Amino acid sequence: MKIAILTIGNELMSGRTADTNSSFIAREANLQGWSVEAIMSVEDNFASIKSRLNYLLPLADVVICTGGLGPTVDDITTEAVAQAFGLPLYTDEEVLNHIKAIFTLYKLVWVENNTKQAMFPRGAEVIPNPVGTAAGFALHILGKWIFVIPGVPRETKKMFPEGVIPILRREFPQNEQYIAKQTIKTFGLGEGAVDKKLADIDFAALGVNIGFYPVFPENHIVLVSRQKTQEAAEEKLKLAQDEVTARLDKYIFSYGEETLEEIVAGLLKAKKLTIAVAESCTGGLITSRLTDVAGSSEYLERAAVTYSDAAKISLLSVPAAIIEKHGAVSEETARLMAEGVRKMAGTDLGLASTGIAGPGGGSEAKPVGTVYLALSDGAQTLCRHYDHRWDRKRNKMIFSQAALLTLKNYLQGKG
Ligand code: ATP
Ligand code: MG
Repeated sequence: MKIAILTIGNELMSGRTADTNSSFIAREANLQGWSVEAIMSVEDNFASIKSRLNYLLPLADVVICTGGLGPTVDDITTEAVAQAFGLPLYTDEEVLNHIKAIFTLYKLVWVENNTKQAMFPRGAEVIPNPVGTAAGFALHILGKWIFVIPGVPRETKKMFPEGVIPILRREFPQNEQYIAKQTIKTFGLGEGAVDKKLADIDFAALGVNIGFYPVFPENHIVLVSRQKTQEAAEEKLKLAQDEVTARLDKYIFSYGEETLEEIVAGLLKAKKLTIAVAESCTGGLITSRLTDVAGSSEYLERAAVTYSDAAKISLLSVPAAIIEKHGAVSEETARLMAEGVRKMAGTDLGLASTGIAGPGGGSEAKPVGTVYLALSDGAQTLCRHYDHRWDRKRNKMIFSQAALLTLKNYLQGKG
């Protein structure tokens, strides 16, 4: 089954809004095993919408449209689709009541043009909107399917999987309709290198689709297995996953959807450990990421951004002589920072970063991208040294990633 995507909105054509709906829909469609033939955007204009629909329809079995379902005069998608096929509009009482109920609930003033959002081309199947007022619809006409859903990304993300996919699976049943899916998260290899390491695996023979999704600084691999039974789907997925693991083992830090921050948070909570952080080059990013998880007060006691030598000396009790002898960016200083912040806070763990994010400040011995990360638990202090060559922002992100991974490995006994 072939899909075309048409995103509708003046803001897309002026460049004010990046079209994220298309990539979301394409990605979801690919996971279902459907191919996307074309992706287009068009302004909120009758003639343009009709002409793009006429262009896309011969290319695909299904056209998915987003945007232009609002109550204002510039939102014309429903009317344009109806006109394109010479269909009259009708008012769906159920949708109208739903919209009126929302207005009552939020004490909004009812304006008559809101009725527009309850109008659909004759023959359309309404797709309810659980997160907003604009319902979508599906239209089966001339042997093709046209779907229209709202453009607000939050609504697209809800309505495509929950409203559109079930209709498509009903209308285009596949033999292989049981799906097993696994996300594998890696760090430390570029997308190209990951691809190359997996090049010899015959995923097609395994009946598994593979997708690569770089989410800097991580690279995610998504395996999707589609079979006639759930057991078979799980089995093939496992085979493919083992092949990937065999080639990428040391770069894989997790299987599943959990973020690195969530994994670390889960481990700290399970072990009932508290932590304090002393950051230099990362400027608070490690702490920021640790606090991205709800309930972080259970493990994070405090953090200090000790950027200057003076701060490292006065706040963390790093001896001035050590900094003078080895430098602020050194294994010795990193270790003493971790130990110092742990003592100051009275926590189980102390985590520290010191490095050179760039672009200035590097030397031959310690080039830009050098970082020392230390983790102290009172009995021992471990220190990791890395050398990365990115720009300042990405170096900071990579440093924080390496710090969280050091912590994760320690908590899993792999420190
Ligand atoms: P709806 O169809 O839900 O009524 P609309 O087109 O009437 O949407 P707009 O005000 O045009 O409403 O868009 C709502 C928001 O969604 C805007 O912030 C817009 O930038 C965003 N948006 C619309 N289309 C897309 C898209 N394809 N990708 C990302 N964002 C989008
Ligand atoms: Mg719009």
